[in-house]
Amino acid sequence: DQPLHELDPEVAAAVDAELERQQSTLEMIASENFAPVAVLEAQGSVLTNKYAEGYPGRRYYGGCEHVDVAERIAIDRAKELFGAEYANVQPHSGASANQAALFALAQPGDTVLGLDLAHGGHLTHGMRLNFSGKQFKVVPYHVDDSGLVDMAEVERLAKEHRPKVIIAGWSAYPRQLDFAAFRRIADEVGAYLWVDMAHFAGLVAAGLHPNPVEYADVVTSTTHKTLGGPRGGIILAKKDFAKKLNSSVFPGFQGGPLEHVIAAKAVSFKVAASQEFKERQRRTVEGARILAERLTAADARAAGVNVLSGGTDVHLILVDLRASELDGQQAEDRLHEVGITVNRNAVPNDPRPPMVTSGLRIGTPALATRGFTAEDFAEVADVIAETLKPSYDADALKARVKALADKHPLYPGL
Ligand code: PLP
Repeated sequence: DQPLHELDPEVAAAVDAELERQQSTLEMIASENFAPVAVLEAQGSVLTNKYAEGYPGRRYYGGCEHVDVAERIAIDRAKELFGAEYANVQPHSGASANQAALFALAQPGDTVLGLDLAHGGHLTHGMRLNFSGKQFKVVPYHVDDSGLVDMAEVERLAKEHRPKVIIAGWSAYPRQLDFAAFRRIADEVGAYLWVDMAHFAGLVAAGLHPNPVEYADVVTSTTHKTLGGPRGGIILAKKDFAKKLNSSVFPGFQGGPLEHVIAAKAVSFKVAASQEFKERQRRTVEGARILAERLTAADARAAGVNVLSGGTDVHLILVDLRASELDGQQAEDRLHEVGITVNRNAVPNDPRPPMVTSGLRIGTPALATRGFTAEDFAEVADVIAETLKPSYDADALKARVKALADKHPLYPGL
């Protein structure tokens, strides 16, 4: 029973270096967050040892009395947090949740409508090389010239193609979707409405975003983005879909559930119901608005930097670099050099190839979790704007990043 550092110093060194990276840089990848220590503890617990195929009270293995408790707590808390009739907390990831949801609602060969990947959709919403694109007939919808999802196109395509499922959700989109309009269109053509709230689930839990559970037949999510829990997925639905969804997850796609992760999900749902969490999500959205304001200011515009859709309603912004000397890759590298981690991201109708792109996706959840205030986000926004100018003072900008990181220590006890 040696500790990690003794048993495997090579892996321990990588873990230590990653902790140091998270502590000393500013994490602004919109899909990332910092899980609380209690979540890390549950996820690193002996529950990892347990086989528990099946569902609480109906397992295919003995000795499940304690994992049953943890999984029931997770289910009850997920239902309560989002006002759902049904919850499945077993999906190993967001993509697994989506796979189980899609196969519960449709058969291979059926038509599904999803937001185009290049316009902010997710791989599992119909990308050519993903199971969704390979096994279903995918009709993509798009954003219009103002950067907003084109609901007239959604309606037109739905009427023309009569899809089995309409998918509403995104990985890179700075606005709220009109769930009521999606519901109306789905009803008009007899389609199921599936909302993938992976990105904005934390905002929903905090009451800062419309709740898709009120509109959709099925809602999927990750638990590790704005929700701030362990890496994993969940499915919420009306109870009519319970049987189909349960059997789609297990035995349809998965074997033994990750009970240690499920326990950690339960902890994160408890956190997400707290006042502190609401306050954190409020700072998350406020921070993104501050970034949008700063990166649409005159000096940023003069450097060819702009923000898609002109702003944000959520936890991220999409920076448009089509008028900049820098492409997405160069901008990502520059920010990395000064200690800010973001990812490059295609803008709609991007003139550059997908590995280069003409945009950046920048999110505030992880820094809000670190305790960043409006004032700190204004400083971050200034540092980003300065870094993206034709000439920049890397050393001075690195010092400003370090001052912000030092002001808000991360995982001080680890
Ligand atoms: N759905 C959406 C909208 C996402 O943005 C993502 C992750 O990027 C996923 C699903 C997939 O989640 P995971 O990476 O856990 O499979």
